[in-house]
Amino acid sequence: MSDEIISQENSHASNEHLTSEAAPSKQNETILKEVNVDAKSRQQTEKEEGDALKKVTRFKRKTCRFCANKDLVIDYKNVELLSKFITDRGKILPRRITGNCAKHQRIVAQQIKRARIIALLPFVVK
Ligand SMILES: [Zn+2]
Repeated sequence: MSDEIISQENSHASNEHLTSEAAPSKQNETILKEVNVDAKSRQQTEKEEGDALKKVTRFKRKTCRFCANKDLVIDYKNVELLSKFITDRGKILPRRITGNCAKHQRIVAQQIKRARIIALLPFVVK
């Protein structure tokens, strides 16, 4: 019985979609249903994408450029290098953005602070 009703409504809904002149309450119901279906399918696709691309795009871990290149020395006098690790407002970028390892991020932060004190880098840009 309930199955029959649902199938009827579904057929009705598709008809309404084409002709679209019916009771407004029913239209609302169909719209709600469609939205629900959309959300469900979206969740599913997101899940699938997450499973498929987890290691490729979403959680791609940047490699620490100082670990990769041992010749790069973090020095407070090297403003050109250090300025890559601050925002345009002068704040030190977090590790999740720079991709540095903890060790090198600490050094970068320390050297940026030194450079600030001798006015090679700004504390704040207004
Ligand atoms: Zn490192």
